[in-house]
Amino acid sequence: MDIEKVLGLVAGQDVMERAKQLAIINQEKTEHSIMAKIGEHLVEVTDAGEYSCDCEDALYRKRICKHVVKVLLDPRNRDIAEEFLRAVMGGKKAGKFVKFHSSGLKEIDKISMGIPEGYLIALFGPPESGKTILAYQIMGNVIKGKGNLLVLDTERAYPMYEMWLDKFFDGYDIHIVELGKKLPQGNYVYVYQVEDIVELLSLHGKSARVKVSDKGKVELVPDKGWTISIRDTAIYELCENGNVAGIIYDSVTEPVEEFGTAQQNLGARNQAYKWVLTTASKLVESRKMFGIAIFHETVNPTNPRDPPKIKGGTGVKYNIKMALYISRDRTSHTPKTESRPKHVREVWVARHFNLPPWVEYGEIELTAQGFKDWRR
Ligand SMILES: [Zn+2]
Repeated sequence: MDIEKVLGLVAGQDVMERAKQLAIINQEKTEHSIMAKIGEHLVEVTDAGEYSCDCEDALYRKRICKHVVKVLLDPRNRDIAEEFLRAVMGGKKAGKFVKFHSSGLKEIDKISMGIPEGYLIALFGPPESGKTILAYQIMGNVIKGKGNLLVLDTERAYPMYEMWLDKFFDGYDIHIVELGKKLPQGNYVYVYQVEDIVELLSLHGKSARVKVSDKGKVELVPDKGWTISIRDTAIYELCENGNVAGIIYDSVTEPVEEFGTAQQNLGARNQAYKWVLTTASKLVESRKMFGIAIFHETVNPTNPRDPPKIKGGTGVKYNIKMALYISRDRTSHTPKTESRPKHVREVWVARHFNLPPWVEYGEIELTAQGFKDWRR
């Protein structure tokens, strides 16, 4: 493992540069952990991916601080640093390390190490940036030969993208899923057109009702009970029956936004997001699938204080450990020193929303054949 490179992705280049200027005053190392004194700060790092430091960044901002990075960069701590980084990237369960597969685009693999298996990733971007096309293309690359694709189409947008599915899933047939009817077996892209938030929640084991108040406001009322085991959810059953290796939520934002913007809905709306995304993560993890959840929200990838937010709600952090952000055309984030073709997009990567996000970007170009690496 190239510790410096991975640390750069996880903690951010700027944090790494600052860490290099520090000195370890003394340190004590055991088989699984390191305690170190750096300046006035006391740092602890374990091979299970845990860390603590009494500086502001670690304590209040819950970020891997420069002191922790310094400990991990020290050549004496290589063994623990490797385990630490594996644990951080793969969730904290020991022994559960993530396998990355090529996205088919070098620019994306370069910044993200590829597409993780058993891991729901978020894809953010403004309208018409090519999120759906990119999601289909990546899935075509990672699941071909491993199984089928399930698209949860919440926007009824699939007919617009049928041509792209044909391109990226050559040899696959497209089947519109109807509840209660058997899935055809073979190589398929199953498209499930989700009616609304109630149906989306129900697929994920949670029942809820939409209620219209006397004042005409629409409210989501979740029922108390839910299906606790992921295996008992309708979405799991669908994936089992259809030999599904990859799932795309296109999008998770749409059905949740649709049921109203009334202030009183915020709590229920956040709960709905949390439920869907947590269950989706469990689904992808338990079946070792690939998962992409598309969000309409935009973020500023150069601002670490601007984590992706649900409209009017809290940050999206529900078990999503990696996110891609795709820009539309040229953005203001990068120097305008050269002219770039109109269809070149920046793709930024962020790991875990508790970490400083969006440290690096790659450039891809949208062509009639799909996205291609674009080199300066
Ligand atoms: Zn610190």
